[in-house]
Amino acid sequence: PPTPNHAILNGLNDAQRRAVTSDAATVAILAGPGSGKTHTLTARVVWLIDHMGIRPEDVIVATFTVKAAREMKERIGKALGNGRENKLILGTFHSVARRYLAAYGRHIGLSQKFGIADAGDSRAIIKRICERLQLAVDPAGALAWISKKKAKGSEAASKSARQQASKVAGLQELETCYREYQKHLETSNLLDYDDLLVSCVDLLRRFPSCVSNIQTVLIDEYQDTNGIQYDLMKLFAQHRLRITTVGDPDQSIYGWRSAEIRNLWKLLREFPETDEISLEENYRSSQSILDLSLQVIKQDQKRYKKILKPTHNKGSRPVLRQLKSASAEADWIVSEIKRVLIMSGTMLTHNDVAILLRSAALSRHIETSLGKAGIPYRMVGGKKFYERPEIRTLVDYLRVIHQPETNDALARILNVPGRGIGDGTIKGLLNEAETSSLSVWAVLSKHCRGDRTAKTKIPKPTEQRLSGGLLRPLNDIRRQIGEASGPNGTPFGLVEMINQLLAKLDFQKHLQKAYPDPEDHAQRWANVQEFLGLAAEFVRDMDRSEEDFLPEIEGLAQTREVEALPRFLANVSLAADAQTKGDGEETQPVVTISTIHAAKGLEWPIVFVPAVYDGSIPHTRADDGDEERRLLYVAMTRAQSLLYLSCPLFSANGNGERNKLSPFVDPVKDSFMKKGPCLDRPVMSEIARILRRKLPPEESIYKGIPAMFSLEDNLFPVDPEEAKQEPKHGFGRGDSRLGEDASRAKRPRLH
Ligand code: ATP
Ligand code: MG
Repeated sequence: PPTPNHAILNGLNDAQRRAVTSDAATVAILAGPGSGKTHTLTARVVWLIDHMGIRPEDVIVATFTVKAAREMKERIGKALGNGRENKLILGTFHSVARRYLAAYGRHIGLSQKFGIADAGDSRAIIKRICERLQLAVDPAGALAWISKKKAKGSEAASKSARQQASKVAGLQELETCYREYQKHLETSNLLDYDDLLVSCVDLLRRFPSCVSNIQTVLIDEYQDTNGIQYDLMKLFAQHRLRITTVGDPDQSIYGWRSAEIRNLWKLLREFPETDEISLEENYRSSQSILDLSLQVIKQDQKRYKKILKPTHNKGSRPVLRQLKSASAEADWIVSEIKRVLIMSGTMLTHNDVAILLRSAALSRHIETSLGKAGIPYRMVGGKKFYERPEIRTLVDYLRVIHQPETNDALARILNVPGRGIGDGTIKGLLNEAETSSLSVWAVLSKHCRGDRTAKTKIPKPTEQRLSGGLLRPLNDIRRQIGEASGPNGTPFGLVEMINQLLAKLDFQKHLQKAYPDPEDHAQRWANVQEFLGLAAEFVRDMDRSEEDFLPEIEGLAQTREVEALPRFLANVSLAADAQTKGDGEETQPVVTISTIHAAKGLEWPIVFVPAVYDGSIPHTRADDGDEERRLLYVAMTRAQSLLYLSCPLFSANGNGERNKLSPFVDPVKDSFMKKGPCLDRPVMSEIARILRRKLPPEESIYKGIPAMFSLEDNLFPVDPEEAKQEPKHGFGRGDSRLGEDASRAKRPRLH
């Protein structure tokens, strides 16, 4: 065989190269954080396509988050050129499943226009069922139980979920709830997240030819797949059984969502010929950050041990700091951000800072302090853009336009903008729909037609407002879908649709009324504009139909989705963890606030992990202490150069109770520094070295894109004369940094 020689292999270490070029049918990469797993997986995709001649449309790549998928696609795109990355079947398990269901779902009895119920919808549906049937079930517990049941496939829901749910309910009530919930989803033509996977498994079992073209399947963050995803992975690969997985058991943090570390061993058992590859060098973090992180994870005696060696210098020791209160902690974090950024000159920006939280609820103090200091930030995994009420309303309208029978969405917009309809009437309509097995839309239409069989009492004027303000405009818009309405006969597009909707609803006026504070409604209107921008972007990116790449199978025709709307809506539902916008392409650098869960796979030069006390991490409500420790390990290993842990001394409840330092941190507390580091020359040059890495800069690996900066190690002026002339905190002022700045601005945040 020819000696492998491909630009994508440049700069990889031997084990990484072996993983990229392995000929084995199944390859399992098992390695610690920052060892280049994702990088290697990405390179392997490029290798398989560019060197092995596999067509991109025959490759499935599953990532854990929408954001990871997007970034991976972008990087593969740079390497392949010609937009070939667009042909890959690449996304989260849920989005890949959705794609197959959209194309072939009707062969398993799915309506062509199924919608997706997100977590909020599911909760609302269950809540209503419990109310209607007077079940003594805690809706959240019931939903978790149902979800576990689905995620595990045929296996029963886990014991702990059952215990949790049955604290308030008997098994029988839970099962009733499950049955009703499923019935409701079916009649409203909805699939929830778990159903996407369950139905896709069903489809691929019964119609294997849907994936007859698939040559190979690659999975990132494999340690967090659950039982049904494992089945799905095998079904995707059922014709050729070529599978590559990369994962790290130490970073398994989704056990609460039925992820199974066991899947790692299951794969090796099922495919004993698997080429097992470990990557042993950490390229992300300074030695002292890596050391401390390993000290934490090593407290877990049962863990699967593997080697992880630093490739960087010692760097600055991580900081552990106790502050009086949560707000003092937040103020300290902000002052430390300011201090370090100023000291770094132009080398570090707000983009290089992340604050990682055990739970999103902790963000309040931090947001306040950042706000006071005028530091821009974005939230990841907290209150999401798509959950803001004004956006939620628009999405609900679009859902109803797409599928009038989406009762839940319709119920939410019946009185938004205000149409004088009370909760009683809304409940009445929902009940009438339920008892007459009609959709709410159908019941409403009956009313507005003046049909006598309509039962709920609605005053005439309200009825008129509903008809003129809701039914008619939406019907109007729906009629135009697929029509050529643009100047050059372009089809009635998503953006025009939203614009019409805003006009017909007089949405801006509605916001002014609903949010009298001028700043408030201006902000919300800005969000609406942003939403329009997102829609426009979506249409632009979508100019070719993904489904075109799925195979044309005799007797199993795929449906072509002509319009953008259903795809946009699916995208919105699946974007649960995507960020507000642009993902790092904001015009101005921003500090990231994220949950630890949502920070998986990412890295930042500076990382803060606040609230490391007992009760926060491990969390009081968590029932797996080892998983909590892994969570802290994930948080710590996101840091490249500076890591800060902190903890308020007194608990927030104000009764003077003292917090205890997290039991994961306590045994190693002496290895930390107490104060923030001094960014002296050695520390600065180590930061610079980590930022630049020994790997050829991303761009240079890829064809056709010139290297942005050279490889020599020292970023700083080496000429002692020149060094002397530097201003005190003048790192990063010289000409030598221009190239650095330009390339740093482009440096992808996820690898
Ligand atoms: P995690 O477990 O956190 O997901 P990972 O194993 O996926 O981590 P990557 O994110 O792929 O690790 O890589 C970590 C960093 O190391 C990235 O910035 C990547 O560019 C860099 N890197 C990977 N391989 C090399 C290499 N051979 N030489 C230099 N840098 C590398
Ligand atoms: Mg990774």
